[in-house]
Amino acid sequence: MVKAYKIATLASHSALQILKGARQEGFETIAICLKGKEKPYKSFGVADKIITIDSYNDFMNVQDELIKENAILIPHASLIAYLGTDKVNELKVPYFGNKGILEWESDRTMERKWLVKAGLKMPKIFKKPEDIDRPVIIKFHGALGGKGYFVAKDHKDFKEKIKNYKGETGYVIQEYIVGVHCFAHYFHSPLTGELELLGFDKRYESNVDSLGRISARDQIALPTIDPSYVIVGNIPLVVRESLLPEFFRMGEDTVKESKKICKPGLFGPFCLETVITPETEIITFEISARIVAGTNPYVDGSPYTALKYDEPMSTGRRIAREIKTAIKTKQLDKILA
Ligand code: ATP
Repeated sequence: MVKAYKIATLASHSALQILKGARQEGFETIAICLKGKEKPYKSFGVADKIITIDSYNDFMNVQDELIKENAILIPHASLIAYLGTDKVNELKVPYFGNKGILEWESDRTMERKWLVKAGLKMPKIFKKPEDIDRPVIIKFHGALGGKGYFVAKDHKDFKEKIKNYKGETGYVIQEYIVGVHCFAHYFHSPLTGELELLGFDKRYESNVDSLGRISARDQIALPTIDPSYVIVGNIPLVVRESLLPEFFRMGEDTVKESKKICKPGLFGPFCLETVITPETEIITFEISARIVAGTNPYVDGSPYTALKYDEPMSTGRRIAREIKTAIKTKQLDKILA
């Protein structure tokens, strides 16, 4: 029965893991790949078929081919970023996930409403620059991967630094949380109703993660160094066990609340992006409503999936397992959009 379907994804972000996981569950796999970027997908041998496109705009044109192949498309952040939410909503090829949740996730005001209702603690937002009374991080709308964010220590500092961003139209001023960054990976199964905690990672960001290599004296001597948050990679993390009950609570309440705002709610993989303070308060600054690249270190499973499964279980494989179960129990309509 599984053989009747194929698993497809855009060759970027977490595609290697998604395709490998699909293979492990017995699916044939398709990578839709930008011309010139085929090497890793060929070299690692995870794709049974590679469909090459000249630009991301051409993705919509390969849909008929995907439909003919009976493919199920697995979304990830690069697919959403390169196509845009409007195009993703127009996709006719079967899509794993709830497309309605994209709107809630991409609009910072709606996202905040959802997460606050779920009982998640979030950084304070300052409506006007005059209100800034503590260190803040300024996030421009449409900034990708933390590029172009800046930190200000007070209102005066903000007024000085914002002068460098004349072309920018909108931004949010968010309290800067000092603590340890921790990204929690979850999977919610609409078939079993269970929320699984699959792992954690921390990000390796340029240049903020290398500033500690330069002494404070030299940083002052080099005033052009401002922190930036451009993601370069992900590092595995295991959290203090006493934090786990709260992480489960947060994930479960996020799913519960999503069912009220956007039926049938959030399912499949998702990630809460948090900072843990010295008081061990977990502050969430963002949600990713799909697989995150922070799961990539766990192609062979994480310490948490090792506890639950007696076989290697990556997030990519967990997605394929859900699809396989849905096919076998004739519930595909519950997980496809
Ligand atoms: P992505 O969509 O890839 O998650 P993004 O552009 O939405 O990225 P954020 O995830 O909001 O950006 O933030 C990028 C980085 O900035 C974070 O990984 C973190 O290092 C830092 N950061 C964001 N918000 C805060 C905050 N409130 N306090 C401290 N650091 C923060």
